[in-house]
Amino acid sequence: MYSRACFSAIGGLEPGLGWDTVDEVRAMMSGFVTRSFTHIRAFHHRPQGAAGGHLRARWAAGRAAYQTGYSPIFMLGRAARHTLKAAPAFERRASAGLLLVAISPFPAGSVAGDGEICPPTTTTATFHDEVRMALIDESTNPEKPRPGLAPLIHHGSRNDAFSFWKLPEQWRNALAAENEESETVAENFLFERYLPEPQRRPPANLRAYYAIKRLIPRTLRHLLNSIAVGARRHSMFPNWPCESALTEFWRTWMQRSLTVLGVQDGWHIRFWPSNLDCCVVLTHDVESPAGFDRMEAMADVEERLGFRSAWNLPLAQYPIDWKRVEKLRARCFEFGAHGLNHDGRLFRSEKDFALLAPLVNRLAREHGMRGFRGPSTLRRAEWIDTLDIDHDSTFSDTDPFEPQPGGTCSLFPFFLGRVVELPYSLPQDHTLIHVLRRNALQIWTAKAQWIASVGGMILVLTHPDYSGFEPFLGEYEALLKRLRALDSAWYALPSEVAAWWRQRAQMKLFVNNDDYVITGHDASRACARRLSDEPLARWD
Ligand SMILES: [Zn+2]
Repeated sequence: MYSRACFSAIGGLEPGLGWDTVDEVRAMMSGFVTRSFTHIRAFHHRPQGAAGGHLRARWAAGRAAYQTGYSPIFMLGRAARHTLKAAPAFERRASAGLLLVAISPFPAGSVAGDGEICPPTTTTATFHDEVRMALIDESTNPEKPRPGLAPLIHHGSRNDAFSFWKLPEQWRNALAAENEESETVAENFLFERYLPEPQRRPPANLRAYYAIKRLIPRTLRHLLNSIAVGARRHSMFPNWPCESALTEFWRTWMQRSLTVLGVQDGWHIRFWPSNLDCCVVLTHDVESPAGFDRMEAMADVEERLGFRSAWNLPLAQYPIDWKRVEKLRARCFEFGAHGLNHDGRLFRSEKDFALLAPLVNRLAREHGMRGFRGPSTLRRAEWIDTLDIDHDSTFSDTDPFEPQPGGTCSLFPFFLGRVVELPYSLPQDHTLIHVLRRNALQIWTAKAQWIASVGGMILVLTHPDYSGFEPFLGEYEALLKRLRALDSAWYALPSEVAAWWRQRAQMKLFVNNDDYVITGHDASRACARRLSDEPLARWD
């Protein structure tokens, strides 16, 4: 039994062995309480896996357990218990199989989402969608987010579904009840509240790593990172490289709202200005003097293809030649703060933040930087809002490979208190090239196409340190050419997207028959569109 909110939050059931553990783990990760009803007796009239043979069944069970992410120690204990307990001979043999799986190295592709890239088909109705739709059709009761950190204070701009969609004002009251709980559900994803509180901040064991980081040569560091990421217990949620949970929540909410209103269709203010279908943003973090030296090479490629990008600089890590910064600014590139240093300190503790945040603010102000990305994407959602910045790009939609894994599941900007958050949504060059050693262009293209298909924001994060020279620069150029080929995209700088998202939040839509009026600052840039034409809302 699932509550409707829970079933929706866990993204339905996982087809395959171990689904009954996966759903429970996902539910708990989404902040729901799970219970066993031990007083209800059930009888298995056919032993599990009897159809395919016991050995095969137990092997499959072992694989499923591995993919679920059980610790090897737990698996050894479980296998030993099965092997030793009084059981028919075939059971003992099968348990030995399970033991074998527990200790064997697992084939590539076992890590969550590390296999083939299959972007979710978000525009087609699936069994899951129908079930979800049916289930969400009653009053839902999403559990409160996990306690611990203070909730972000809202400054007029919200993350509720009505504000996300920007629906006609005439619908506001009729949808008040629908909308009330939508912000709680959305922010469970956006602020990573589905994670236990200790995982929503930099991991404690990073302190030791940062203490010796400078002593390890960079190539060895990549190797160690790659081993550490491989050994890490990967979470099933959010999926990588594509996670559609929040996208589907927005769509389900919209469909349900149309049902409540008793209408087939309606209008909303489009997500991007000038009637464009999706958004492309290029950002870079410049990690070292070598990366700084390669900025122009990347900038030339971008400029040639009609792009401009934002460069985030760590403000106290290496000497910055501000004249070169100004030259790039004169070519319409933009600069943001990448914290002070990659030493893991900024978000480590309240004391560190209180000490370092004023320095970040001062240096960013002195150099006219309004954007921010935390070094190594370490973060605390409720502190970023207190920095003197306009927009942030520390969060991803999904990134299990960073020192602080997680993801907002969001392919659109959102409000982190008064700051506009622009989550990066393509996997980082460093991750694909050095950690996973995968074909970057293939993964980038697949994901970019999926984001474009739902009209979202393709926010690229690359580093001149890793992508600013051949053969990687060629790969990056190929990505840019593919992004250029998108049908109707808004190519924008982070500051432009953040400004637009703020303006859109303040706009109001009034619809009279088939005429509409949008009011608000710069409303002439905004367009309304029928929901039936909006891929994110479409059900067919
Ligand atoms: Zn960095």
